[in-house]
Amino acid sequence: MSVPFIDLKEQYSGIRREVEEAVLRVMESCRFILGEEVEKFEEEAAAYCGVKEAVGVASGTDALLLALRACGVGPGDEVITTPLTYVATSEAVVRTGARVVFADIERGHYTLDPASVEKKVSDRTRAVIPVHLYGLPCDMDAILDIAKRRGLRVIEDCAQALGAKWRGKRVGSIGDAGCISFYPTKNLGACGDAGMVVTGDEGIAARIRMLRYHGAREKYDHAVHGYNSRLDELQAAVLRIKLRYLDGWNECRRRNAGLYGELLGKLPVVGRLPGDREGGENVYHLYTAEFKERDGVLEWLSSSGIGCGVYYPLPLHLQELYIDLGYRAGDLPVTEECVAKVLSLPMYPELGEQAIRAVAGAIAGFGATG
Ligand SMILES: *Cc1c(COP(=O)(O)O)cnc(C)c1O
Repeated sequence: MSVPFIDLKEQYSGIRREVEEAVLRVMESCRFILGEEVEKFEEEAAAYCGVKEAVGVASGTDALLLALRACGVGPGDEVITTPLTYVATSEAVVRTGARVVFADIERGHYTLDPASVEKKVSDRTRAVIPVHLYGLPCDMDAILDIAKRRGLRVIEDCAQALGAKWRGKRVGSIGDAGCISFYPTKNLGACGDAGMVVTGDEGIAARIRMLRYHGAREKYDHAVHGYNSRLDELQAAVLRIKLRYLDGWNECRRRNAGLYGELLGKLPVVGRLPGDREGGENVYHLYTAEFKERDGVLEWLSSSGIGCGVYYPLPLHLQELYIDLGYRAGDLPVTEECVAKVLSLPMYPELGEQAIRAVAGAIAGFGATG
């Protein structure tokens, strides 16, 4: 039995009628930019996250860029983040003109290590971006504590963890701003690129509204250098439908993870399995486990028709584009150790028991035949 890494078609077939109605409603309205759908989706998403304000933007990457700028980050500043994330996180920092500084991660949780962040804080540090990687919240208590003592802004990268909770609060509602990606494969996916910033700070929200609309306070009244970075009506209409299903889908992901845990827990080739953490609930954007012979398992599963992948094979501090920052192999040892072991297995809400058993069976067969 072959199992895809992700399958968006199953989800679509379950909500097809509602989505198609919403799309047609927008087409017939002929209102495509900043209309009622975006406005309503912003209200609904803010309520979902438990914050006052939500501002739809063109992508998760832009959400980070605009949130950083709205927090005053720019040339001469430093921003601390994790090297184990998608490049969009650090790309946004560089696009503000600030310098990115990488701190190490926590073993087992794969999220920013507060102790390492503390060591990297300098007089120039302006903000920290905790990334709730694979669906698991960072240790936000410790990060907020550092931010408070050192006067830093906290911009949460929630691209992989929408719906996850830290001490009962949704991610995105904990720092100064939370950045969401609706890239189609994320837990809440649009039918194209889309993103959002959620915040409890009205000033930040107002600045992001300006920045996404060419820096305009009102039409033809440009206060700052901005962007064209708007969420469009079609995406908002589709996302409004899907937001109502998000908690149910995340619950399915958690159930799938539970079954993986039962089936994989005792296999000798498995090193570490993902889970919740003290204070943090995982929504399993990815089901990422550690394996003793990761590259062998990757090859074995791929040749058995099981979709899997390494997130991420080369940490950001060792990527060529950051060569000028001067990092060397060995500088962030926990990250470097983890990337040699991690492998993400098929995970999506509709993934059934049979498929999970097939994946576990294939992994169990690795030592025997491989
Ligand atoms: C997907 C992702 C982004 C970027 O989101 P886009 O909507 O693709 O621009 C940023 N950070 C992380 C951790 C992501 O996974």
